[in-house]
Amino acid sequence: MQVSLGIFLAIVAGIIGFVVGGFVIPLINARADRRRAEQAGPTRLDVLRAVYQQAPYALAVVDRHQDVVLFNRRADELGIVEDRLLIEPVWTAAHATFVDDRTSVFDLPAKMAAGRRRIPSVSGRCEILQGHGEQFVVVFADDDSEHRRMEAARRDFVANVSHELKTPVGAMAVLAEALLESKDDPDSVEYFGGRVVSEAQRLGKMVTELIELSRLQGAERIRDPEPVDVDDVVDEALRRAAGAAETAGIELITDSPSGLEIKGDWTLLVTALANLIFNAINYSHERTPVSITRGISGDTVMLRVTDRGIGIAPEHQTRVFERFFRVDKARSRATGGTGLGLAIVKHVAQNHNGAVSLWSRPGTGSTFTLELPAHVEPDSGGTTPATEHVDQGEDQVP
Ligand code: ADP
Repeated sequence: MQVSLGIFLAIVAGIIGFVVGGFVIPLINARADRRRAEQAGPTRLDVLRAVYQQAPYALAVVDRHQDVVLFNRRADELGIVEDRLLIEPVWTAAHATFVDDRTSVFDLPAKMAAGRRRIPSVSGRCEILQGHGEQFVVVFADDDSEHRRMEAARRDFVANVSHELKTPVGAMAVLAEALLESKDDPDSVEYFGGRVVSEAQRLGKMVTELIELSRLQGAERIRDPEPVDVDDVVDEALRRAAGAAETAGIELITDSPSGLEIKGDWTLLVTALANLIFNAINYSHERTPVSITRGISGDTVMLRVTDRGIGIAPEHQTRVFERFFRVDKARSRATGGTGLGLAIVKHVAQNHNGAVSLWSRPGTGSTFTLELPAHVEPDSGGTTPATEHVDQGEDQVP
């Protein structure tokens, strides 16, 4: 009995020893290691891994056998790695780098990936990974659709401007030749001379407006907005347009002074309103009225210019605010138009944190409305002196 108890105890001790030695101690050690690692914080490798995963551009490292040994999330999102291999055009660039030991670049057009995922246009470069005996190439890539869009817009703009400037310059050359040929005919000299002057004036206006537009597009918001008296703006814009209105036999009608104020830039506001009035005159029939009204709705000042002119077809109504867009080029040219007036109005409104809207019907007329933030006196409890000036206008021809 004594002997079997001893054997039994020895077996139990053996089992305990086996369990403790084989399972419990390694478990305790592993836990202790984990705790130590937690207390010691992440290793430099952990940090590096997190950084390249989080990088806003794509990174991939490839060996000579086309195997991608490392790549980050962005590389996957931009579709330059598929099934742990570089896609073909990127591998072609990487391979060229292995062969020539030189940086190579690639540009990929936008495409639809599986699952209708849209992958933007991507550009990148491949370089030998330094310090590893030319074993690896590292690929850097990024989404460059915004850059391509800006480049296309810039090319477009330069092409448009060159074309628009060439037209009056070409016309002036032809007119000057005609002038030289008709030096013995005073009537022709007067006619061609007058046309040279008007083309030169149009060219000058276009250059001035282009400079103005590029200044407006460059600035996000009006830098030092000041309280601007709306009635002063209306008076000055009317004064500028009075001559043109008289020549065209158009009566400019306006409502009574409002006492309203806008926070903004006086010169730009006058330019914008005058552009709208000039257009209303230019695109109206003789002896029809053009009206200019002011009002306030909530904390937005409304300046409206309404004509009973030719109107604008619905399909052209958003396009008229694009630079150089004209519904009828010949008519715009005949009135000395540049196609930039409404683009300037739009940018002046945007830079004032406002907007310009349009109501129009062909054959009936148009109403352009400038909507601009009212200036509120700090001690007026949020009420401008003229909030009683109720805005009754609808975006319609009266
Ligand atoms: P433009 O110098 O040609 O007048 P704008 O940018 O001022 O250029 O206007 C663009 C185009 O919008 C004009 O060419 C014309 O076709 C149209 N437009 C502008 N204002 C009016 C209006 N009040 N009535 C009818 N059409 C207009």
